Amino acid sequence: MSEKAGHGIRRSATRLDSYVDRYAARTKGMTASEIRALFSVASRPEVVSLAGGMPNISGLPLDVVGGAINDLVRTNGPVAMQYGSGQGDPRLREQICDVMRLEGIEAHPDDVVVTVGSQQAVDLVTRIFCDPGDVVICEAPSYVGALGVFRAYQCDVVHAAMDEHGLVPDALRDAIAAVRAAGKTIKFLYTIPNYHNPAGVSMAAERRPEILEICREADILVLEDNPYGLLGFDDEPYRALRADEAEGVIYLGSFSKTFAPGFRVGWALAPHAVREKLVLAQESATLCPPSFSQMAVSAYLSEHDWQGQVKQFREMYRERRDAMIESLEDLMPAATRWNVPDGGFYVWLTLPDGLDAKAMLPRAVTARVAYVPGTAFFADGFGAQSMRLSYCYPTADRIREGVRRLVGVIEEELEL
Ligand code: PMP
Repeated sequence: MSEKAGHGIRRSATRLDSYVDRYAARTKGMTASEIRALFSVASRPEVVSLAGGMPNISGLPLDVVGGAINDLVRTNGPVAMQYGSGQGDPRLREQICDVMRLEGIEAHPDDVVVTVGSQQAVDLVTRIFCDPGDVVICEAPSYVGALGVFRAYQCDVVHAAMDEHGLVPDALRDAIAAVRAAGKTIKFLYTIPNYHNPAGVSMAAERRPEILEICREADILVLEDNPYGLLGFDDEPYRALRADEAEGVIYLGSFSKTFAPGFRVGWALAPHAVREKLVLAQESATLCPPSFSQMAVSAYLSEHDWQGQVKQFREMYRERRDAMIESLEDLMPAATRWNVPDGGFYVWLTLPDGLDAKAMLPRAVTARVAYVPGTAFFADGFGAQSMRLSYCYPTADRIREGVRRLVGVIEEELEL
């Protein structure tokens, strides 16, 4: 039953959203992620959340950050609180080039666009390249926030398989051939080569030239999303794909994991022509990225031993990774599989045959442990037998307790 109510908006007793007929077609693709729905339960103190991907920034030197922000307001306040360049603060763009050099990238600050987190960079790149129905090739599984962007721009996502060494070259070749055989246009490959979210694997160094070659031959751009690149547990960071291919790769970086996500500062490094379009898109989206945040990040980078801080973060995350892997090894029933990440925040765990991580989640929450079901990371409903476990936020003790609770739930499921 429906009735006309104020301003001609149809109100329906059965529909929750009475504006539903008015939205643009693309808005239908905007749905809350499974992670969002989990947040309210997972953040209850009695629940051990292995669900969220929040960096643990408690080790940051707040006095240093506070001092830098104070100085910024006193010495440069009118600039920091004013509109700025649509492309981003020039000094910060130079510092970003120094950061990227750690991964083998030689870039000019003119080719960097500062964005509101790398999340906005994914959005801007998709905005300038994709029409409805265009195909984006993604790893299987892929980052839930990027899938949300692709859906919002009405792209079709085609997944290509990964193994323990990252994206499988033959799977990429097959995906390209299948999409082209179906007469569709591929706009880019979206890849997270390092410490993958959610798969926890890294693309093997030997595989990288082959992946680049496949994309070069097929004339497909690569969107390299690399927020975790400096959070490896071994000595040297992986060499970026962008380090060996300047024209065919758009590289995305972020300070969310190496410093703090609340500043919302990320960036895109793009070939010159693309960079110009990104700036136009940035200007129409936000006029300019926030001056204050950019200058605060810039001050932190120049006044603090930020690389020493990243080293501390890596040590903390390594300890937590070890706690998770040790308890999985000690407690998980046979036929459960997982990977051992060499950096980043995530373990991808696959349950014994017949179990469904999504169906099991309410029972896990009752047992006071939360995770993200694998289906969140696929555009096509796959992944039900898997889950993403994060070790970044809880302490090692809480991680052990969380795994113990999870094992209890899995064992009950196996008995059913
Ligand atoms: N890409 C990946 C793979 C991520 O995991 C995240 C954050 N979880 C982002 C992009 C976005 O990060 P931010 O916007 O904070 O830079």
